[in-house]
This record gives sequence, structure tokens and C-alpha cells, in this order.
Amino acid sequence: MSEVIIIGGGIIGMLTARELHHAGIDVLVIERGPLGGESSWAGGGIISPLYPWRYEDSVNQLAEMSKTIYPGLAQQLQEESGIDTELITSGLLFVDRDETDQAIEWAKQWSVNLEVVTGREQIREIEPQTSESIDAGLWLPEIMQIRNPRLIKAMKGSMNALGIKYLEHSPVEGLIVESNKVSGVLTESGPINADQVITASGAWTANIVSQVGNVGVEPVKGQMIMFHGQPGLVKRMVLSAGHYIIPRQDGRVLAGSTLEKTGFDKAVSEAALEELKQDAINIIPALADMEIERHWAGLRPGTQKGIPYICKHPKVEGLYIHAGHYRNGVVLGAASAKLMAEIVLDKPVSLEPAPYACNAEH
Ligand SMILES: Cc1cc2nc3c(=O)[nH]c(=O)nc-3n(C[C@H](O)[C@H](O)[C@H](O)COP(=O)(O)OP(=O)(O)OC[C@H]3O[C@@H](n4cnc5c(N)ncnc54)[C@H](O)[C@@H]3O)c2cc1C
Repeated sequence: MSEVIIIGGGIIGMLTARELHHAGIDVLVIERGPLGGESSWAGGGIISPLYPWRYEDSVNQLAEMSKTIYPGLAQQLQEESGIDTELITSGLLFVDRDETDQAIEWAKQWSVNLEVVTGREQIREIEPQTSESIDAGLWLPEIMQIRNPRLIKAMKGSMNALGIKYLEHSPVEGLIVESNKVSGVLTESGPINADQVITASGAWTANIVSQVGNVGVEPVKGQMIMFHGQPGLVKRMVLSAGHYIIPRQDGRVLAGSTLEKTGFDKAVSEAALEELKQDAINIIPALADMEIERHWAGLRPGTQKGIPYICKHPKVEGLYIHAGHYRNGVVLGAASAKLMAEIVLDKPVSLEPAPYACNAEH
């Protein structure tokens, strides 16, 4: 019998398993599909919320803490798994100008390096491929990105190397709860017992927890496309009116993403492809000559304010919820997993946990 079961092997479940393992806990991750095969695979891997000043301090606190964790984490994952997650500092150029004051205020509050850029020549120095019409923006040179599919492979490799137990292709069908205490989960192949259970089931968390109450997490579909570019052509992440460009090291360029509340449907649409393609070309005209190699969708675990649940269930002893990271599961994940583990282990916490409590506003 394991001490802790984690339902869901996305980035949130895997990072939490890693934290608990390092604290000496015998943990088992149970994943319905392949590890990391849902939102965590589909994401862009920007290590920053898109417009951080629009979020509450509780989201920024997790983001800023994670930013300090990622360089060391990526290095450890590479040592343990042999896989390079391609964590790079490519910087993020915002070309929207209407929130400049809020952005400057936010950068001061969180000690983030932000430059207000004016003039086409200055923009061209940052990213020469941007459209001629872009002649001002906000430049955040220290923003990192990580390549999601590589992060997942590295995390799985590291779990193998560290001996962290997991089951893939094993859907959890329910929680075993008696006298308001959880004692395990039900799976197709029978019950599996544990002293504590953490639901890290992304967009599906409300379904799992419905047996014992409500959780305000709902799926928000995001579609993304990938251009087959040449290495070094586009160097910087660029964000304009909610749409972004993420250049990878091998020359591929991601363009995302849509925000659609269409339930658990992961279908992609021609209309979204056209919209993403056109917006990407408006930012980087050279993309017009590149083939679109892939088009996909993922289901983000959406919450109203983007504040995740990192909490002990108020009614069921031994049950924890770790979900609802919405658009920011990668950037928030590293710090969020640390806090979740501290709560489960009843240790001193790195961050004030109240904003992430199960009964707080998310
Ligand atoms: C297009 C797109 C772009 C994004 N870009 C970024 C970005 O740039 N930066 C960033 O920080 N975030 C980004 N995100 C958000 C980020 O990907 C998510 O917040 C994050 O992946 C959530 O991780 P998770 O582990 O909670 O969810 P998931 O990765 O969805 O994992 C949950 C897991 O639980 C499993 N599960 C569900 N039900 C069961 C069950 N009954 N039994 C067993 N297992 C179960 C699922 O199969 C799944 O693997 C993006 C998301 C999308 C879709």
C-alpha cells in the first residue's frame, strides 16, 4: 500500500509526486492515459502568465517562485532522464500598449526586468522578424520557455530513475470514502488503498470530486498550430492581442491559442486554424511561407480567476485537491507542487496557503 495516491499524471500530478518522493513518501500516480498526454502536452510552455498584471497576487506569487525553481529543476531532470527539456530564456515581447502603466507597476512590485520600447529600430533589434507595423512594446528579456513534450518525457524518465511508482492507462472510477475519510480509489482492476489521495486530474477534477462535493474547475479548450520554420529565424516570444508566437530551438514556431468553453470536446476547427495562422502572420510575416506542420487542442483546467486549488478537502479527511491552474499550469506548477506537498506533510509552508484553499474564490 502506498502512503499517497495522486489521481492524474499531468505536470501537476508528476511534479507533486516528485516533491513527495523527495520528502521520503511512498507515492503512486494513477493516470487514465499516458503520463502528460492531456493539457500538459498541449501547452506552450511559457514560464510566465500571459498578462501577469491581470492576475491576483496569489497567482503571481506562485509564478515568481516557480521561475526561481525551473533552472535547477530542468538540470536535475536532464541528469536523471538524459532528456533536455529545452528550457531557454527567449524573452517575451508584448506589442500591446494599452496596459503599459499596469505592466510597469507589476514589474516594480515583483522586481521583474521590463523595458518600454519605442521605435521600429528598437523593436527590430529585439526581434527582426516582427511586422513593420510593430513600432512599440514592452520587453521582458528574462522570460523563459520550456518545451512541453520534452518536459513530460523528462519527468517520466526521472520518475523511472527515482523509482516513483505510476500506472498508465488506468482510469480512476471513484474515491473510496467511509465516515468522511478517504482510504483509496477504485480502478478497473479493483480498489487501491492509500492513507491520502490527491486529485490532480486537470480539467476532469470536478468529475472525480463530485462524489464528495463541488470544485469550480471546468475545461477550457485551447487550439494551437505549429509552423515548420528554420532554426534561428524567429528568436523571441511575441504576444499581441492575446495571440502569441513561441519559437523553439529547432526552428519550429508555435502560434496559439484559442479560449473555448465547449465542454470536454477536443476537436480542432478550420476556423481556429485560419485565425491562429492569420494572427501569427500579422506578428511575423515570414511565417506566411512556412508549412503548418501540426494543429492540436488541449483542455485547460479552468477557474474563474486562474487561482489554483492547492488544498485539503474541507469535509473528507485525507483528500486533497491540486487543480485549476488554467492557462498557467507550467509556470505555476513547480511552486504549486512544493506548496501542495508541504500541506500534505503538514510542514511549514513556503507561501500563505489561504488564497488556494478549497473554499476560497478561485
Ligand atoms: C493550448 C494551450 C497552451 C498553454 N500554454 C501554457 C503556457 O504557455 N504556460 C503555462 O504555464 N501553461 C500553459 N497552458 C496550461 C497548462 O498546460 C495547464 O495548466 C497544465 O497542463 C495543467 O496541468 P494538469 O496536470 O493539471 O492537467 P493535465 O495535463 O490535463 O493532467 C490531468 C491528468 O489527469 C488525468 N485524469 C483525468 N481523469 C482521470 C481519472 N479518472 N483517472 C486517472 N487519471 C485521470 C488526465 O488523463 C490527465 O493526464 C496551456 C494549455 C493549453 C491547452
